[in-house]
Amino acid sequence: MIEFVNASKTYGDVVALADFSAVVPSGTITVLMGLSGSGKTTAVRMVNKMVIPSSGAVLIDGVDIAAQNAVTLRRSIGYVMQDIGLLPHKTVLDNVALIASIAGQSRETARRNAREMLTLVGIDAASFGRFPRQLSGGQQQRVGVARALATKPNILLMDEPFGAVDPIVREDLQDELLRIQRELKLTVLFVTHDRQEALKLADQLIVLSQKGRIEQSGTPRELTKKPANAFVRKLLGV
Ligand code: ADP
Ligand code: MG
Repeated sequence: MIEFVNASKTYGDVVALADFSAVVPSGTITVLMGLSGSGKTTAVRMVNKMVIPSSGAVLIDGVDIAAQNAVTLRRSIGYVMQDIGLLPHKTVLDNVALIASIAGQSRETARRNAREMLTLVGIDAASFGRFPRQLSGGQQQRVGVARALATKPNILLMDEPFGAVDPIVREDLQDELLRIQRELKLTVLFVTHDRQEALKLADQLIVLSQKGRIEQSGTPRELTKKPANAFVRKLLGV
């Protein structure tokens, strides 16, 4: 379980996130949805200490992460961004295995886990030796997900991970994510501004307006049936 407790972040005069409090239950998908600039990325990056709160706290399983070593913490947290940033001169297998070896797995274990995770996300063994540019955008995104899973994390942070792929591939990736999340019982914090994606993936949907202000949270059904206000209604298109 991830808990944000009055988490705030300011950069000089700029408020990126103000007083954000939310719970991401274990083994479920929580989707953060909101307009650009509403603090979604800031909130997500607080979980793996890429952003340190100016005030407030983030707790994982009841423990404040402020005192935890960031490198150790990141081993239990996978992170997928829109711009996946695969290493262009490394093979697909090496891209995934590298992360696991950095995290301390032996070369053999790292490669075994990499093969396992690549298979899990639907990459054919014939592609393991290819370079990222030889794959389609959708396949590269799958490799990005495999890489995030290489250290066998129980938390997966996904920040608009499928934004750059075409709609049909995107639906496949969403289906794969749902399957993998169930299989590995992952705790997923997923950011999107796509309403269909949000409604499809979310166990819990949190709608943000400016600076991380929560307009409403609940199941997609609750929000679409009873939107709290005009902002939620408009964002969800109901
Ligand atoms: P979102 O992901 O919802 O688009 P962000 O969390 O990236 O929003 O940003 C929220 C606000 O904080 C934006 O107005 C953004 O410009 C600002 N911001 C984010 N990171 C920084 C930074 N490193 N320095 C200055 N301002 C930032
Ligand atoms: Mg963002």
